[in-house]
Amino acid sequence: MKTDTKIVRAGRKAEFTQGVVNPSVTRASTVVFNTVAEMNHALKNSHNNTMLYGRRGTTTSFAFQDAMVTLEGGAGCALYPSGTAAITNAIISFVETGDHILVVDSVYEPTRDYCDKILAKIGVETTYYDPLIGAAIEALIKPNTKIVFLESPGSITMEIQDVPAIAEIAHQHNCIVMLDNTWGAGINFQPFDYGVDISVQAATKYIVGHSDVMLGTATAVEKYWPQLRDNSYLMGQCTSPDDLYLALRGIRTIGVRLRQHQQSALKIAQWLSERPEVETVLHPAFASNAGHEFFQRDFTGSNGLFSFVLNRGNQQAVTALLDGMEHFKMGYSWGGFESLILATHNVQKLRTVTKWPYQHALIRLHIGLEDVDDLIEDLEQGFARLNQEC
Ligand SMILES: *Cc1c(COP(=O)(O)O)cnc(C)c1O
Repeated sequence: MKTDTKIVRAGRKAEFTQGVVNPSVTRASTVVFNTVAEMNHALKNSHNNTMLYGRRGTTTSFAFQDAMVTLEGGAGCALYPSGTAAITNAIISFVETGDHILVVDSVYEPTRDYCDKILAKIGVETTYYDPLIGAAIEALIKPNTKIVFLESPGSITMEIQDVPAIAEIAHQHNCIVMLDNTWGAGINFQPFDYGVDISVQAATKYIVGHSDVMLGTATAVEKYWPQLRDNSYLMGQCTSPDDLYLALRGIRTIGVRLRQHQQSALKIAQWLSERPEVETVLHPAFASNAGHEFFQRDFTGSNGLFSFVLNRGNQQAVTALLDGMEHFKMGYSWGGFESLILATHNVQKLRTVTKWPYQHALIRLHIGLEDVDDLIEDLEQGFARLNQEC
């Protein structure tokens, strides 16, 4: 089945929909049983889409989990109240005091903070590695290395990793390969085809797609699914059926949304690359992007999120650019229908083992579903404000 067909069908089994088109919203704490036999049946089958207790999920979460496995693959999907919770819980499910993990230097900043502030406290050591390291990661693996954590493209700076090369080495040393697949969204990158064992997503972004829900997912291969699932239960992770319903609704349009985000973003990225104010465009589909060859080989498309680096302007000039934007609003997160803009003045302070080669500010854009010409006009006026301050 092709992706667009999967998107329409995902999670819509009759047991979840009761015969209507969409899965129903089942709100529950207590699930009640009339007989001991019924209760025992639920106890035995709670891992198998049978309701036992609200925290263990209802038909709405079963439908969403089923949908995520349909899109992304894997043996099962654990749910968390945010993407960050998915990352932290997936990692903690597989490490103990004395272990070591490898984490990509271009990782999402809160993931790095978790490693440095929480894992360090319990005696789990983190070594960061160059996103372009490939098979040379072998030199960093120690006898106690448990997890190799990837994120591709890298947060803000967009480096694409050679996932299969890293996964092959990691597996030779019995390490678990975990990937933050938020940018790929389970649509443009199929993690389990490239050696990933556990794929984490901030469903907050493109899965939900409308900037109104926080949600995290972790899908896993058969080998690691029971441990991931059991640890998720043990740590009390659960999600609201109303939020999951919105995420299921988001999924129905993710194919068409991503194609439009991609088309508009490519047009704007091309336009930016010809602007005199731009040092470089950081977009995985551009030949100049670090790891572009792996993007060409492994991804089926891009989306609305990319960055560019300015070649001029101090903080005040960049502030002038940002402050007057009409359509691009400043805000964290991305993946909704609206355009966003964010400036980072010191990329180097987000890195510990790689050298950031550029001097001026990096601007990250999320290209929303507005008319692309309106967005270009907005950026053009932003550059005029920047130039006035230079
Ligand atoms: C936003 C984001 C997260 C965290 O998701 P939240 O739902 O905001 O906690 C994790 N990884 C990446 C790459 C993200 O962009």
